[in-house]
Amino acid sequence: MGTPENGGMGSESPSPGSRSLWLETSGDDLTPRPPLVIDTRAEVAILGAGLTGLWTAYYLLRRTPGLRVVVLERRVAGFGASGRNGGWCSAGFAVSPGAMARRVGPAAAVALHRAMTTTVDEVLRVAADERIAIEAVKGGVLRVARGAGQVPALHRSLATATALGIADGWRLLDAEETRARVRIAGAVAALRSPDCAVLHPGRLVRGLARAVERLGGVIHEETPVVDVVPGPGPQLVTPRAVVRADHVVLAGEAYLTRLRRWHRQLIPVYSLIVATEPLDPGRWASIGWEGREGVASTRLSIDYLCRTADGRICFGGRGAPYHLGSRITDGFDHHPQTHAMLRRMAREWFPELRGVRFTHAWGGPLGVSRDWMPTMSLDRATGIASARGYGGQGVATANLAGRVLTDLLTQTDSELVRLPMVGHRSPDWEPEPLRWLGIRYTQWGLAQADQRAERSGRAPTGRTLAERLGAH
Ligand SMILES: Cc1cc2nc3c(=O)[nH]c(=O)nc-3n(C[C@H](O)[C@H](O)[C@H](O)COP(=O)(O)OP(=O)(O)OC[C@H]3O[C@@H](n4cnc5c(N)ncnc54)[C@H](O)[C@@H]3O)c2cc1C
Repeated sequence: MGTPENGGMGSESPSPGSRSLWLETSGDDLTPRPPLVIDTRAEVAILGAGLTGLWTAYYLLRRTPGLRVVVLERRVAGFGASGRNGGWCSAGFAVSPGAMARRVGPAAAVALHRAMTTTVDEVLRVAADERIAIEAVKGGVLRVARGAGQVPALHRSLATATALGIADGWRLLDAEETRARVRIAGAVAALRSPDCAVLHPGRLVRGLARAVERLGGVIHEETPVVDVVPGPGPQLVTPRAVVRADHVVLAGEAYLTRLRRWHRQLIPVYSLIVATEPLDPGRWASIGWEGREGVASTRLSIDYLCRTADGRICFGGRGAPYHLGSRITDGFDHHPQTHAMLRRMAREWFPELRGVRFTHAWGGPLGVSRDWMPTMSLDRATGIASARGYGGQGVATANLAGRVLTDLLTQTDSELVRLPMVGHRSPDWEPEPLRWLGIRYTQWGLAQADQRAERSGRAPTGRTLAERLGAH
């Protein structure tokens, strides 16, 4: 096992291009940029060239041209979740609007939701301005009920959104209306909401890295940060050299668990995806899905689907086990049982996939905090800023984080810095082996509740221990 401080470098394969369909088809040269080999100074030094680190660099450089921004990346830009995700750039947030309203009050929950809806458009705007061809379609989300047991969850979501006044453009579709959008076996209803674009994550993250460089930012790849020294004058320490900075930004998401001081702030939860070969026009004619909506069901153990621009179906889901000690290695990106389950589910949902090959299977860790609340913060005493804990809803959230951190670092008062996750610190996760026991139990319990619901046709009760532990 890699220790938190050495970044776990030993056990990993050297071929980032095989990580996901997205990096493979990003159209970008994945040859690593030169590593950091001599000590240097920066105004802002950033750990991690995923979307959080790169959006932060991007907005800082836009705000203050000429600022010295250095990004250190252990592998290559987009190696982490940002280059592997399900392609949904959505207004969804780690804490649902209803749960957020209970925690921080309706006004703050609505302000956050509005900030997230704006963020979806902001990602599309910058991609267009920077000529990053992300193949995006803003088709919204279809949450599909496969069986009567999944319908009450749709009604609950709509009722909560309506009560908060954020249900503009939301609509319940009956079986026929659902089928007119996408033909999914067993679908009896769907809830349509507008604030989601499906895009090509590899093109987004790799294109953003190029945009940061065009603005004068410096990215060093194959440069693991092995220690973070708090300030004044904080430092990012790598095996060969040190960056001394006015501020450092920790944008390592799930991988931050490898740094001792942040080890219990998050857990890495593996999410896995399978992708088909491009389907022929005949199959698409019978499936439909011309709107390229993000599609999901209401299963507790989570599924998320997209239709890619080149005509594949990506089917993602959770279910791969948590590993003792929050371990992360490349080997965990593949979990044969979970990948087999996803392929099986894809064929059940889309009987037209008979005879179609699955060409890709990958996965990766996303970061989950103990209270499911993301953090976006700057500690002025130590000079350390961080954004983390997006809980699998990070494609849009990382952009919001980049703008929040830019406002914090440039001492700009704004509505963004008053959002509820700004300055939030989640409680630490329990020490092991308690953590492992609790998480594995919850994963098992949610899968059981899904299976019971599928067998009985009745909605999960919401009252089991696992459902209460997993609620957010
Ligand atoms: C399979 C999967 C599917 C997902 N699907 C969706 C989706 O459809 N929609 C959605 O909104 N969200 C989704 N997510 C979540 C989303 O992708 C992430 O929340 C988001 O990309 C996080 O961005 P990030 O930059 O904070 O972290 P990451 O993209 O994980 O980037 C962190 C980077 O930091 C680097 N790093 C870490 N530690 C160090 C160190 N010590 N030194 C140097 N570099 C370091 C890593 O190598 C990595 O490149 C998914 C995640 C996964 C894994």
